[in-house]
Amino acid sequence: MKALVDGKKCTVCGVCSDVCPFGAITVGETSVEISDECTLCGMCVDTCEFGAISLPEVGAGPAADLADYNGVWVFAEWRDGTVHKVSYELLGAGRQLADKRGVELAAVLLGHGLGEALSSELIAYGADVVYLVDHPQLARFTNEAYADVLVDLIHKKRPEILLAGATSIGRSFIPRVAASVRTGLTADCTELDISEEGLLLQTRPAFGGNVMATIVCPNSRPQMATVRPKVMRPVRQPEHPGRSEVIEVSDGIFQNRVEVLEVIPEQDQTAKLTEADIIVSGGRGLGKAENFVLLEELAQLVKGAVGASRGAVEEGWIAPSHQVGQTGRTVAPTLYMAVGLSGAIQHVVGMQGSKIIVAVNKDREAPVFDVASCGVVADLFEFIPAFIRKIKQERE
Ligand SMILES: Cc1cc2nc3c(=O)[nH]c(=O)nc-3n(C[C@H](O)[C@H](O)[C@H](O)COP(=O)(O)OP(=O)(O)OC[C@H]3O[C@@H](n4cnc5c(N)ncnc54)[C@H](O)[C@@H]3O)c2cc1C
Repeated sequence: MKALVDGKKCTVCGVCSDVCPFGAITVGETSVEISDECTLCGMCVDTCEFGAISLPEVGAGPAADLADYNGVWVFAEWRDGTVHKVSYELLGAGRQLADKRGVELAAVLLGHGLGEALSSELIAYGADVVYLVDHPQLARFTNEAYADVLVDLIHKKRPEILLAGATSIGRSFIPRVAASVRTGLTADCTELDISEEGLLLQTRPAFGGNVMATIVCPNSRPQMATVRPKVMRPVRQPEHPGRSEVIEVSDGIFQNRVEVLEVIPEQDQTAKLTEADIIVSGGRGLGKAENFVLLEELAQLVKGAVGASRGAVEEGWIAPSHQVGQTGRTVAPTLYMAVGLSGAIQHVVGMQGSKIIVAVNKDREAPVFDVASCGVVADLFEFIPAFIRKIKQERE
């Protein structure tokens, strides 16, 4: 789909081509052509003073009557019989959205043989209702089975908002769900709010993290967003009342062509990094791979994990699973030490949720000091060994 040009109104002035950030508009002698690069961003529509450009109608699918859609849903992800923390975080955010809209907050739990305890916990974290679908096809996650069921539930119950974690599972099947119900999806949101008209305001970094874009989905429902782990805050209220509702699905809805034979756990640092309470991250200032030993020693001493900037990863000094930032992991530990990294915006978006940020950099103008709770202007090769010695002395 792309923007439409009304040849009768177009004067071929070329202003639309100048403002298009995607280079999708070519101005010819007598007409303007819009290519498939068009993202329907609408810049050309706003700029054209002759009203010659318009966007095509979207989302006239199942959500044609928007008022029929009601309630906020959170997809409740689980692994090894335990709810993933991101689902609790999303219930925290979803609770606020539901309260502003004056609607119910639901958790959608898909699986097989899951205990009652999972539903009770989802309620304690804010869900008014847990929609539980129990079916052997859902015993292990597969894209098709999970998408088939979620699409079926959306058609049956019509939520106005659906949130999911931007985890490997969420990233894998939520776009399929959005496409199936012909609605929009904003990935990796860092902030969510509700406008007065009830539109979900979905804010996320755009253009390489240089701007924060707020995206709305005015013409179709549900309004769908994914959020990375550790971006939102969970709120546990053990007394919060809620109910479970078991929903039957017919075998006929499954079109699964995939069978999971075995699950082999990934042996990398990702889980350790996102769960760690203390992270010591290094950047290009480390100078070479061997120098990461310094940070490993410090991390071990404080029972933390080692993170890295993309600069260090690109140098090949440390594995990509350690990378923090826009194209790495989002983390929010109690203490984040940024050592010998400049604090580029793409790094900062991945760690700014940390409670305390300590930056060690020899350049006092380094941008990392703008987000640091505590800044140390020093050569890391002097400071870190001295810091390690001090911790050891204190513990003797
Ligand atoms: C689309 C896109 C996505 C990106 N995603 C990410 C991402 O997810 N994560 C990420 O980190 N980056 C990301 N980047 C890259 C980002 O823009 C920066 O290039 C990168 O973070 C820089 O890494 P750095 O801070 O280690 O290196 P540099 O910018 O080179 O900074 C090194 C720092 O070390 C300091 N230093 C040097 N020697 C010492 C010393 N002896 N003692 C103390 N300090 C010292 C210097 O003063 C300097 O501030 C992305 C970029 C783009 C375009």
